[in-house]
Amino acid sequence: MSNAPHDPHFETLAIRTQTPLSAEREHSVPLYLTSSFQFDDAEHARALFAEEMPGNIYSRYANPNTDELVRKLCLLEGGDDGIATASGMSAVFTAIAARVSSGDHVLASRALFGSTHQLFTRILPKWGVASDYADVSDPSSWERLLRPNTKLIFIETPSNPGLELIDLEWLGALAQSRGIPLVVDNCFATPYLQRPLALGASVVIHSATKYMDGQGRALGGAIIGTKEYLADCRFFARHTGPAMSAFNAWLLSKSLETLAVRMDRHCSNAMTLAQHFEGHPMLEAVRYPFLPSHPQYALAQRQMSQGGGIVVLVLKGGLEAGRRFLDRVRMVSHSANLGDTRTIVTHPASTTHSKLTPAEREAVAISDGLIRVSVGLEHVTDIIADLEQALGS
Ligand SMILES: *Cc1c(COP(=O)(O)O)cnc(C)c1O
Repeated sequence: MSNAPHDPHFETLAIRTQTPLSAEREHSVPLYLTSSFQFDDAEHARALFAEEMPGNIYSRYANPNTDELVRKLCLLEGGDDGIATASGMSAVFTAIAARVSSGDHVLASRALFGSTHQLFTRILPKWGVASDYADVSDPSSWERLLRPNTKLIFIETPSNPGLELIDLEWLGALAQSRGIPLVVDNCFATPYLQRPLALGASVVIHSATKYMDGQGRALGGAIIGTKEYLADCRFFARHTGPAMSAFNAWLLSKSLETLAVRMDRHCSNAMTLAQHFEGHPMLEAVRYPFLPSHPQYALAQRQMSQGGGIVVLVLKGGLEAGRRFLDRVRMVSHSANLGDTRTIVTHPASTTHSKLTPAEREAVAISDGLIRVSVGLEHVTDIIADLEQALGS
């Protein structure tokens, strides 16, 4: 046995990263519900505003609760700096808007979260920022679509809801060779399963609403990455105001204390469920990154430590079969969130992606019979039983 000092592990960092004790010597960190902070004197106020010293000024800039969450996420993701935002989408928007100007270009993966797709196609073009989508199935498309004015590459892996993967090491190397930051929405994997910054990304985005909260209570987001990139995000956020509330930061930081144990169970339940349903007579396919039948199984094994908590079931019978299935589930929830303790099913073709044509849906791996199962922490036997009865078997 060696007594050599070692770096703390993920679980320890998630639990032991805490705002310094107040004079009350509390064990669990208190809530700092204050809009502003007091200055000792005129010189103190001047120095804080001039950013000559660190310290609290106003909760739109920083707050002890959001600082704790950000420090923890930097340690878990391996980032130098970060900011917390009110939602995952405000993190996505800030990370892009802080870095682009009119005339710039952004390259993104085609399979994107619905609101991120709206941002690229409906909002950024109003300000003269163009974008292109590259296809996972065509690796050469990435290089071909890069332009001299491409300011960042934005991707999701695994994608929501199609569970397509992108090779982070490969794309990170391409981005670095061109001097373009790679921004990764790491919502599905969380830093417990995948650390994009160690594989070549410059920035990681989170919807903390999902696995970080883990219990479907609060919205939140975060941007973690290099000092240089985050300096632009901090300036932008400070003056445009997507700040996370102190209460949500407090809640989310406490939730991170249990992220590792929750993810272990989400993943083992998802794996059991995926294996159970693979080959089911009512299903066309089961998709899960850690099933050997997943087209990118080898990549999943390389860049993720486990397969995650989302399983895709593709029902035979398309749209109608999907709708029927949702009307028949009893215990599991039909809701739009994911990453909750409660198992949640959604049918993208009739809801989030209903405005796309079937061909457009196919291009992002969403077939009409696709059901996204966010596998919760109920006993896996009970989850499987409910899905079985809903399938009508
Ligand atoms: C939910 C989600 C978002 C948006 O996060 P909000 O907290 O809902 O704003 C972004 N990306 C992915 C992959 C998501 O699942």
